[in-house]
Amino acid sequence: MLNRVTLPVTPFAQNCSLVWCSDTKQAALIDPGGETERLLAAIAERGLTLASILLTHGHLDHVGATGELSPQTGVPVIGPGVDDAFWIEGLAQQVQMFGFDPVPAFTPDRWLKQGDSVTVGNETLDVVHCPGHTPGHVVFVHEAQRLAFVGDVLFNGGVGRSDFPRGDHATLIDAILNTLLPLGDDITFVPGHGPESTFGHERLHNPYLR
Ligand SMILES: [Zn+2]
Repeated sequence: MLNRVTLPVTPFAQNCSLVWCSDTKQAALIDPGGETERLLAAIAERGLTLASILLTHGHLDHVGATGELSPQTGVPVIGPGVDDAFWIEGLAQQVQMFGFDPVPAFTPDRWLKQGDSVTVGNETLDVVHCPGHTPGHVVFVHEAQRLAFVGDVLFNGGVGRSDFPRGDHATLIDAILNTLLPLGDDITFVPGHGPESTFGHERLHNPYLR
């Protein structure tokens, strides 16, 4: 069983997810955007062992604590897609753009692509490439528990911005309609910001998907 808790971080209230395997207590942080000490405390208080950092895309509010967490804990950084390398290499410029405090640089240990999978203890997350918000954006899906971590692709009642460099609105909508939603209306998703929803609810009610 994959357990999880949402820990909103940064002034943007980015939904960092702490997920863990109930059998092994191995854990992963999905999109640790900031607040390193608080994230480490959340892991410690549950008696978990951090095994990896998983990134949906290269925006600062999703990756900002990675350059501290990875060297401190010795765990690998996995994701996003390699097409987001320019965002991660440009972390210092993002700090200025978003008005954040400076953060250490990092380089992912493994880039992800469509069809890959990553493990958290005995649990497996499938990797789905959903470009448009950023070109290398990936989504993590736990097939058995009908759960997805979608970063800034899809929100409850909204979709990701596409006005950044190499963003493209038509590409984003195509990825949502033809790659993400076909995974199943019953999938609950954790967006990068704001409340959770299901793919089915968004298919019916999201004004950007009409
Ligand atoms: Zn983003």
